[in-house]
Amino acid sequence: MQSILRILAAAALAFAAAQSGAQSYPAKPVTLIVPFAAGGPTDIVTRQLAQAMAKSIGGTVLVENKPGAGGTLAVEFVAKAPADGYNVLIHHIGMSTAPALYRTLRFNPMTDFEYIGQVVDVPMTLVANKDFPPNSFAELIPYLKANKDKVNYANAGLGAASHLCGLLFMSTVEIDLQTIPYKGTAPAMTDLQGGQVQLLCDQTTQTTSLINTGRIKAYGVTTREKVSSLPNLATLDSQGLKGFDLAVWHGMYAPKGTPKAATDKLNAALQAALKDPAFRDAMDKLGAIVVPPAKQTPEGLRTFLKAEIDKWTPIIKKAGQYAD
Ligand code: ASP
Repeated sequence: MQSILRILAAAALAFAAAQSGAQSYPAKPVTLIVPFAAGGPTDIVTRQLAQAMAKSIGGTVLVENKPGAGGTLAVEFVAKAPADGYNVLIHHIGMSTAPALYRTLRFNPMTDFEYIGQVVDVPMTLVANKDFPPNSFAELIPYLKANKDKVNYANAGLGAASHLCGLLFMSTVEIDLQTIPYKGTAPAMTDLQGGQVQLLCDQTTQTTSLINTGRIKAYGVTTREKVSSLPNLATLDSQGLKGFDLAVWHGMYAPKGTPKAATDKLNAALQAALKDPAFRDAMDKLGAIVVPPAKQTPEGLRTFLKAEIDKWTPIIKKAGQYAD
């Protein structure tokens, strides 16, 4: 009898601790970690998200950029951060391509994280400096073939979406361009506009207004569907690259072992943000698409991540690009 009472008392204490954990989280600011440079596409989405999440989480939501190694430095940082709900990773499709691209990876996307949910899907655009000679996609391919050694393709490092897009583009059109890695596509875009690099594939979140105001040249959208914020830009698929289809999906992750009280609150704040009219409107203007409710869940992210790893691994292995 005594031992039953002791077990009941312990269970009551554990329940009370969990309840107070749920009530007290967040007790300090939550930081969303961005794996790329400030001002770029992942950063733009995350800053809007932080503002929207702060409205419902009951605390401050900060954004911190930890760029490097195509986003993998930030992923490793969060994988090893204290599992207390205060370091939260926002990462894109790179979470599913890194295992195939890196020979040694100091994290495992399938075992080192608690999944919070998916966020938005963002199409990419193939763009160039405004004075780059080809004026259309039809002119671009012959120009690249004839001037291969004069063209530099910028990206945000091995594992970035811009890297993946370049890999797919170059292998589809069978051209091997010199690539220049940056810590994000924000600095890559600065150099593209300055003429230090010529070509880049980047999310519409960064390119929409630059294209619409004529500050850069655009050759096509990487998804099968056109993008509403860029009504005059045709898809690469419709311009001859049949089947070209690349959208940059984003997910939110916490370190493995983060208490459920915290992950539940993060998920509730994420779902509230994705319904928030100001957030939705901002995403709409940038060509980003809020994912449907089933994807906004931990299970929605986990199953999609697994499917994406299975999808990209053979494609990347076939392209034969690796880093140590
Ligand atoms: N757009 C970048 C990429 O290539 C990342 C960034 O700078 O947000 O993945």
